Amino acid sequence: MTDDAAATPTCLARPLPGPDDGGTGCAAARGVDGRPLHAAALKFFWGPMDCGKSTMALQMNYNHARQGRRGLVTTRIDRSLGPRVTTRIGLAHTAVEVTDELDLRALVRDTWAEGVRIDYLICDEASFYDVAHVEQMAELVDGYDVDVYAFGLATDFRSCLFPAARRLFELADEVARIQVEVLCWCGREGLLNARVVDGRVVREGAQVVIGDTVDTADVRYQVLCRRHYRSGDLGPRA
Ligand SMILES: [Zn+2]
Repeated sequence: MTDDAAATPTCLARPLPGPDDGGTGCAAARGVDGRPLHAAALKFFWGPMDCGKSTMALQMNYNHARQGRRGLVTTRIDRSLGPRVTTRIGLAHTAVEVTDELDLRALVRDTWAEGVRIDYLICDEASFYDVAHVEQMAELVDGYDVDVYAFGLATDFRSCLFPAARRLFELADEVARIQVEVLCWCGREGLLNARVVDGRVVREGAQVVIGDTVDTADVRYQVLCRRHYRSGDLGPRA
C-alpha cells in the first residue's frame, strides 16, 4: 500500500455488488440490470454504550426470522457474562459465545451440516471480537452468501478504535451510526465511552475491562460528549 492510499479514508459504503463481484458460487436470481436480487452484505452498526445496539440487534433478528429466514446470534462479553445477548430494557436471546478459537465460517458450515440453513448472522458486541473474526464475516458474505449484521462500539475508553471495529469500518459494505441518541449530562450528543474508577475518568489501562453504566459498578462507563470527555467532567451527579 502506498502512503497515498494509506492516507485516503476507506470508502465506508458502496453500492450492491455487480454481477461480476462476489463469487458466491450460487445461482442468485438477477434483476433486469443483471444484479442479483439479493446480494449478501456485511453491515456494521455502531454507537456508544447505552444507545440500544443490542436491542436493535435482537429486533433485526426478529424481523428476519419473521420472514422465514434462519439466523444465528453471536456475542462476546455480554453484560450477562453468559452466552446470551441481553439488553438494558429487558430483552434477551440465547447466543453463541465468540471465543478466540471460534471460526464463524465453521460455525455456519457445522450448522448447515446438521441440516439447518443459515441465512444471516447477528454479531453483537463485535468490537470485542478478533480481527480474524471480521475477516471471517467478510468471507461468509462473499463466499457463502450469508448476510452478516455486526453491532458494537467504535472506540474504547481512550477514544481509540477497537481493532475489530477498525476492520469493520474498512471491510463493511455499509456502516451506520445508530440513531438512538444517548446524551451527555450536559445535553450534547454522547459520543465517547469514559471509563470511571473512584469517580474519576481514567485514560490508561487494559482495552477491555468489564463494567456497566450503572452508578454502583466498581468500574463504570459514562457516555460523554467530546468536550466533557476531554475535560474529564462527569457532571453534577458524579
Ligand atoms: Zn457534555
